[in-house]
Amino acid sequence: MTTWPTHLPGLAWGADYNPEQWPEHVWSEDVELMRRAGVNLVSVGIFSWAKIEVSKGEYRFGWLDRVMDLLHAGGIRVDLATATAAPPPWLTTEHPEMLPVRADGVRLSHGSRQAYCPSSPIYRDRATALAAEMASHYRDHPALAAWHVGNEYACHVKRCYCDTCAASFREWLASRYTLDQLNDAWSTAFWSQGYTDFAQVLPPRVTPTFQNPAHVLDYDRFSDDAILELYKAERDVLRMVTPDVPITTNFMANWTFGDLDYWKWAREVDFVSNDHYTEAQSPDRHVELAMSADLVRGLAGGKPWLLMENSTSAVNWQRRNIAKLPGEMRRHSFQNIARGADGTLFFQWRQSRGGSERYHSAMVPHAGTETKVYREVCEVGAEYGRLTEVVGSTVDASVAVLYDFQSGWALRQDAHPTNDFDHYRHVLGYYKALWQAGVTVDFVAPGTNLSAYSLVVVPAFYAVSDAHAAVVADYVAGGGHVLVTYLSGVADQHTRVRLGGYPGAFRDVLGVWSEEFHPLREDETVTLTDGSTASLWTEHLHTRTADTVVSYEDGPLPGVPAVTRNAFGGGVAWYVACDLDEGGLSRTVENALSGAGVAVSRSPIELVRRKGDVSFLFAVNHTGTDAQIEASGVDVLSGTQVSGRLTVRAGDVVVLREEV
Ligand SMILES: [Zn+2]
Repeated sequence: MTTWPTHLPGLAWGADYNPEQWPEHVWSEDVELMRRAGVNLVSVGIFSWAKIEVSKGEYRFGWLDRVMDLLHAGGIRVDLATATAAPPPWLTTEHPEMLPVRADGVRLSHGSRQAYCPSSPIYRDRATALAAEMASHYRDHPALAAWHVGNEYACHVKRCYCDTCAASFREWLASRYTLDQLNDAWSTAFWSQGYTDFAQVLPPRVTPTFQNPAHVLDYDRFSDDAILELYKAERDVLRMVTPDVPITTNFMANWTFGDLDYWKWAREVDFVSNDHYTEAQSPDRHVELAMSADLVRGLAGGKPWLLMENSTSAVNWQRRNIAKLPGEMRRHSFQNIARGADGTLFFQWRQSRGGSERYHSAMVPHAGTETKVYREVCEVGAEYGRLTEVVGSTVDASVAVLYDFQSGWALRQDAHPTNDFDHYRHVLGYYKALWQAGVTVDFVAPGTNLSAYSLVVVPAFYAVSDAHAAVVADYVAGGGHVLVTYLSGVADQHTRVRLGGYPGAFRDVLGVWSEEFHPLREDETVTLTDGSTASLWTEHLHTRTADTVVSYEDGPLPGVPAVTRNAFGGGVAWYVACDLDEGGLSRTVENALSGAGVAVSRSPIELVRRKGDVSFLFAVNHTGTDAQIEASGVDVLSGTQVSGRLTVRAGDVVVLREEV
């Protein structure tokens, strides 16, 4: 099986290319400008359904043939879409029943994108038919490097609540539960919800008040499966026709999205690709970028992955869409490469003149090529050309973060002790502490064998099966170190609370038990014995075998342990029972790192190594001042020799081929 876009000369560099938005005479200029910018891979046809299939079964490939030929003549490889991301109006007009329905019963209209119900047999039939046509038409085209199925699945239609989905949901449930098991797993004795027939089960549509949490969580799982089945249906069609062409779909493992369990999805793609856009408002946007990149490398099982989309500058969908400053796009690009990407692509090649994303930046902006953006695009493209040796190298980490998408689904529901908890941002807080400590981390799925790691951070691993809890306990018993944070282990996989004191699943390994949660009022903080503060969350914790590291000085729980450390078997288990401020969190993480024998090396710049036959040190200076580090080797981008002391200029990036 091929696991990377074929015949690329080195790191992938390019964009989504949407030539259908432009008159044909622009296309040859596009290819010329792409060549000048070092572009070697473009994604074509993602939103071209209406241009390719003009009515049912009537396919028009002529224009796309000419695009493919032009790109091939220019030496540019194509990640060809199946074009199924946005059904055309003729299809949804003929079959309005394929449009998605919201929880409040409103059926959505076409006129935007992703207007389909994931359970719709009409959509599935037409999408797989189009994928089959694309595959048979382009199977032998020399530009074809990879298949791009769909686009950002579930980005807009995260869940559909229509009658077709209701019927599929019942089948999904009946294949997993008897009625008795369902009533038990969903705790339907509460509020008289007991079902006597699967036919009575509905999607969790709008109800008078709180819905059943296990019902909602299972609907999340069902929806994830239904959407994954759509991807697999297209993939299987492609695989049959073009067995040697690798297949992917672009994930959104980032701060904007958490509705698919990508651990499951990652097993179904030939190579992992991801979209990432920075949060312009956040001063830590480059840290979140690093976390997303590490998470995606985890999804890829440590293998190289592709950044399918990011932006050269501003996007169009945030509250205020801030342009990137000179050098920022370059730093973002190299951060992704440093963290295991073997290429980065943008949305999109040429900035649209019309349509909803006309203010989203591109490689060629509205103003043309005499611009900061296009100049930087050409510079970075040329630099990527000097990094061919990096391709295929990998990133080592001795620390892991256990990341559970489904705990995020469970915790975003309402009727929890606090509704102000954000799973992704909670993980990001711990990630930032590790990032500041200069520690490169892997992300791992629940159930992963952890024995390769010195320390595993387990943040808000909330809805935990016995089997997954046992993996963590066995790891510690065998000598591993874990740092578990609050809201972990509280519930089972059906979100039923584990009895006998929180955090039920990890009570023994942590050597603590908690009798009551004490979330804090808005703007309330409590002081801890080490001088740090906590907000949002505290709990009435008791130690059994654990030692108290820090306790509360004031607030509702004076004298009660807030951070504990427990020797368990051959290992150590830390518990952080409150929402620490940044200083307290950093201190706790660094204590856990030191205890696990992991070196902490606070540096003003971001340092990551990729290793293959040789070692490459990526040094990214996000600050406004020059920085120096100890390193020796050849600066691959400038060709200069570095002996002992490397200066990384303010805002600059250095890639050093290290001398060992
Ligand atoms: Zn539906």
